[in-house]
Amino acid sequence: MKALIYHGPGMKTWEDVADPEIHEDTDAIIRVDTTTICGTDLHILKGDTPEVAKGRILGHEAIGTVERVGAQVKNIAAGDRVLVSCVSACGHCRYCREARFGQCLNGGGWILGYMIDGTQAEYVRIPFADNSTYLVPEGVTDEELLMLSDILPTGYEVGVLSGKVTPGDTVVIVGAGPVGLSAITGSRMYSPSHVIAVDMSDRRLEAAKAFGADITINNTREDPLAIVKDLTDQLGADVVIEAVGTPATFELCTQLARPGGHIANIGVHGAPATLHLESLWIRDLTITMGLVDTFSIPTLLRLLTTKQIDAGAFITHHFKMNDIMAAYDAFQNAADTGALKVVITRQ
Ligand SMILES: [Zn+2]
Ligand SMILES: [Zn+2]
Repeated sequence: MKALIYHGPGMKTWEDVADPEIHEDTDAIIRVDTTTICGTDLHILKGDTPEVAKGRILGHEAIGTVERVGAQVKNIAAGDRVLVSCVSACGHCRYCREARFGQCLNGGGWILGYMIDGTQAEYVRIPFADNSTYLVPEGVTDEELLMLSDILPTGYEVGVLSGKVTPGDTVVIVGAGPVGLSAITGSRMYSPSHVIAVDMSDRRLEAAKAFGADITINNTREDPLAIVKDLTDQLGADVVIEAVGTPATFELCTQLARPGGHIANIGVHGAPATLHLESLWIRDLTITMGLVDTFSIPTLLRLLTTKQIDAGAFITHHFKMNDIMAAYDAFQNAADTGALKVVITRQ
C-alpha cells in the first residue's frame, strides 16, 4: 500500500510500504476512505516530538471501511463504515473507566501516527477497535464526520469544557486555526456575551468571524489586552483558550484572563513558557491543559446529525491520496492558501 512516511525533521515521502496486519485480537484493519492533516503532524515534521520514530506513517484522523477484525472485536465487522478516533482506548484501565482515554495505561491514548503507524495511508491498523471507532451515522458526509476524529472534540473538551465556558461569559480564543475555530463553535453553544478571536492572520480572523466570533483582533497591529479590558470593565475575560502552542501566546492568555477566570491551554507546545507566578498568584486563576480524550464524540455526533454544528465549514481544500504532498503544501502555507482542513480521499 501507499503511505505518508516521516523520515525525520523536515522529511516525508509518499511511498510503498507493507500492508498493516492484525497484531492483537482487539485490532481492526481499516481501509482509509478519507483522511486529513493536523497541525500536530506539522509539529512532528518540525521535530518538536523527537519521540516519533523515523519510518512512522503519520495521521490520526480517518473515516474508513472495516476490512477485517481480530477475534475479540464485537462492535464492528468487515464492511462497516467507521469514524476513527484520534485517541485509542483499552476501555479497562483506571483512566479509560473515567472516560479519560487520552491517558490510557494499556497502550492506548494518542498513539496513531505517533507511537504506531497512522491514517495517512491506504490501510491502517486500529488497536482496541471496539473502543476506538464509531459507526458512521446516516445523513452526514464523510468529510463532515472526519472533523470529529480530532479537531471538534479537542476544541470542545480541552477548550470549552475544561475552560468551563458558561452563559454570558466573555471568551477569548487565541489562535484561529482549525482547533481554535472548533473552540469558537463549542463556545457558541453556551451563549457567551462575546467570543473574541486573536490571530496574526487576517484570513484566519475572517474565518473566525464566519464561525461566530463577534470581535476579531489582529495582534500584529492591535492590542488584545486593551480591547479585552475595555469590553470587560477593565477586568479581563472569563475564559481564555490558547490554541497556538507558543510561549508568547500562552503568556498573553494569562494576561487576558480576569481574576477568578479560566485559561484553557489546547496548544501543543514545543518549548517552555514562563508562568509569571509573581503577578498571577493573587488573581485566583485556573489553568487547565491536556490531551483530548474524545469522550465527547457521541455528543458531537448528535449535534452533527441534527445540524446544530456545521462541520463542513472547516473544509477548504480537497485532494486525492496520491496528491498528499500537495495537500501538505497547501496546509503548511495556510497564511497564503487560506487552508483550514484539507480533505484527502482515496483515488
Ligand atoms: Zn490532530
Ligand atoms: Zn485504557
